[in-house]
Amino acid sequence: MKTIAVLTSGGDAPGMNAAVRAVVRTACENDMKVYGVIRGYNGLINGDFIEMNLRTVSDIINRGGTILYSARSVEFATEEGMRKAIRTCQEWGIEGVVVIGGDGSFRGARDLSERGIPCVGVPGTIDNDIACCNYTIGYDTCLNTIMEMVDRLRDTSESHDRCTVVEVMGRKAGYLALNAGIACGATSILVPEVEFDVQKHIIERMEKTQRTGKKHFIIVAAEGVRLDVDDLAKEIQAKTGVESRSLILGHVQRGGSPTVKDRVMATRMGNYAVKLLMDNIGNRVVAAQKEEIVDYDIFEALNMTKGIDLELYNVAHEVSI
Ligand code: ATP
Repeated sequence: MKTIAVLTSGGDAPGMNAAVRAVVRTACENDMKVYGVIRGYNGLINGDFIEMNLRTVSDIINRGGTILYSARSVEFATEEGMRKAIRTCQEWGIEGVVVIGGDGSFRGARDLSERGIPCVGVPGTIDNDIACCNYTIGYDTCLNTIMEMVDRLRDTSESHDRCTVVEVMGRKAGYLALNAGIACGATSILVPEVEFDVQKHIIERMEKTQRTGKKHFIIVAAEGVRLDVDDLAKEIQAKTGVESRSLILGHVQRGGSPTVKDRVMATRMGNYAVKLLMDNIGNRVVAAQKEEIVDYDIFEALNMTKGIDLELYNVAHEVSI
């Protein structure tokens, strides 16, 4: 391939810029032309492209968000939108596309590949919910952001002998909640993968620790448990007598300068993706398996499942008392 494009799609994640930089620089180093697509699949439909070079990706490795902007494109998910995107790629001579995003974006990449535009997916999502990867770009930064925010909440919870219920992101998965909950010393961690009972998993644990002298509490709930954290805080206060507050951390979790881990993994994955396209290999997802970068067929990747680490969940349960 001599001409490729790179886009970011779905929810943004810190480290996407580092991945874009790696894609552009690897392509340039190997004498390929590379277009940056603006606003995900919408840009691919409308031909909203910027020709990238070594300097268009200067000073972005440290920046959160995505310089290419992101979008959730309703039009692209239609047959007509998909056809338009293919036509645009053909008009611009684009032979392959690197898609940085989550599993929704990979479904789009699979459809494009099936219709003759080879794509390589790079996992960029804070949720770490891509089954073929044990790590996704943005996850580490997001965990550190949650930890910093909850540490601050702990200070004030302690000063006032309060319980604070914090809802964190993660879509349908509990990876962020579990690992952030451990790092923050949460008394209870609620994840969608493990059934819980408010009385047993929160109230009784709080009462048990109260008897040992504990007076302030952090409860971390994944958004995927679909619980009203305000109602939960009221219930905790009514049942334990501990003043309780709730907080949905929200979009602060998406932003910020990427951590070392996210920058390094994004760089390795972006580089790997271009190497696949250079060898005319498409319809693949780049994945991190422990410390190694590997790749899977997109169709196969989308059909894989991964569960939460129950051993880790049990460790959390045992030490958070
Ligand atoms: P995140 O998990 O971080 O939100 P994501 O990539 O899963 O990221 P989605 O909003 O699910 O985010 O998908 C991004 C875009 O991918 C959609 O707006 C749509 O344009 C495209 N897309 C999603 N699902 C499909 C599909 N089944 N077929 C074709 N395109 C799709």
